Amino acid sequence: KIILAIESSCDETAAAVVVNGREVLSNVISSQIDIHTKFGGVVPEVASRKHIEAINIVVSQALEEAGVTLDDIDAVGVTYGPGLVGALLVGLQYAKGLAYSLNVPLIGVNHIEGHICANFIQHKDLKPPFVCLVVSGGHTFIVHMKDYGEFEIIGETRDDAAGEAFDKVARAIGLGYPGGPKIDKISKQGNENAMKFPKANFHDNSLDFSFSGVKSAVLNYINKMNMTGEEINTADVAASFQKAVVDVLTENVIKTCTTRDVHKIAIAGGVASNSKLRESLTEAGKKRGIEVLFPAPILCTDNAAMIGSAAYFELLKENVAPLDINAKPNLRLGER
Ligand code: ATP
Ligand code: MG
Ligand code: FE
Repeated sequence: KIILAIESSCDETAAAVVVNGREVLSNVISSQIDIHTKFGGVVPEVASRKHIEAINIVVSQALEEAGVTLDDIDAVGVTYGPGLVGALLVGLQYAKGLAYSLNVPLIGVNHIEGHICANFIQHKDLKPPFVCLVVSGGHTFIVHMKDYGEFEIIGETRDDAAGEAFDKVARAIGLGYPGGPKIDKISKQGNENAMKFPKANFHDNSLDFSFSGVKSAVLNYINKMNMTGEEINTADVAASFQKAVVDVLTENVIKTCTTRDVHKIAIAGGVASNSKLRESLTEAGKKRGIEVLFPAPILCTDNAAMIGSAAYFELLKENVAPLDINAKPNLRLGER
């Protein structure tokens, strides 16, 4: 089955052509980062407008690069949540029109499920069940993916998402937006043991996360240094913050695997491209005979290929969307 997939949940307008959920014929991403950088974050109204300008071009390019025409498309997959409602609607309405005019099924995809499915593209033999750590700009979950489209949420953040914490701390230490990749890079020159920022553990045995405490600790440290006029070593702050976040992510996901006797972890979402997280999890997994899988960085951050993969597995289950399907900005993983 050849699926044309569309993604517009945040600040990337993306389209891809994916065969049988695993083979990517094209993966076109138009990023709005330059515009939003000026404001230090994504401005929803601007995002919607930019999606409208880009979507036709991006879809045409995806078809062209794949070497297919609209007549070859067996289904249209599209993100319908979670995300910014105005941004989601652009891709969703476009996909509806396309599916209707081609008389092919429309598949509504959960964006987070898409992030997880990026692993099916990268690892051709990967099949559920496995544990997945989802670490993106807006979400942080440990999930047990029991079958295609079947998830049990084991732990989640009680406040900020991991990527959000990276972005906020980066802004506070003057690295700009988007912060994750910049913290990753500068941390390589820093001492990760220079400062001790609090780890976000709960005493109730839960595997939930909290990143607002670490973030506040960094902000307080910056304020204190500014007040006393001492010089801030940006690389040390970044590396120490990154360590605090990565340690907790590693600890909780490994704990999940050992208590549930699962030996496979797939990582998903933008923060999955963090080099320290990759290193830490790979090492921890090796010690305990747990296989740790990552998608290539281009498949970690927002793209439509991952949506095309998720759409394929939903299509197999005949989860076809009605043409009056609406965007769901707060859609939960495992819900429709
Ligand atoms: P969501 O998927 O939850 O709706 P999103 O789509 O905005 O949110 P993603 O595209 O999955 O999020 O990921 C973007 C996030 O990943 C940003 O917060 C960014 O800072 C972070 N990120 C990207 N690369 C890295 C990296 N190398 N290290 C740490 N964080 C990173
Ligand atoms: Mg983005
Ligand atoms: Fe995302």
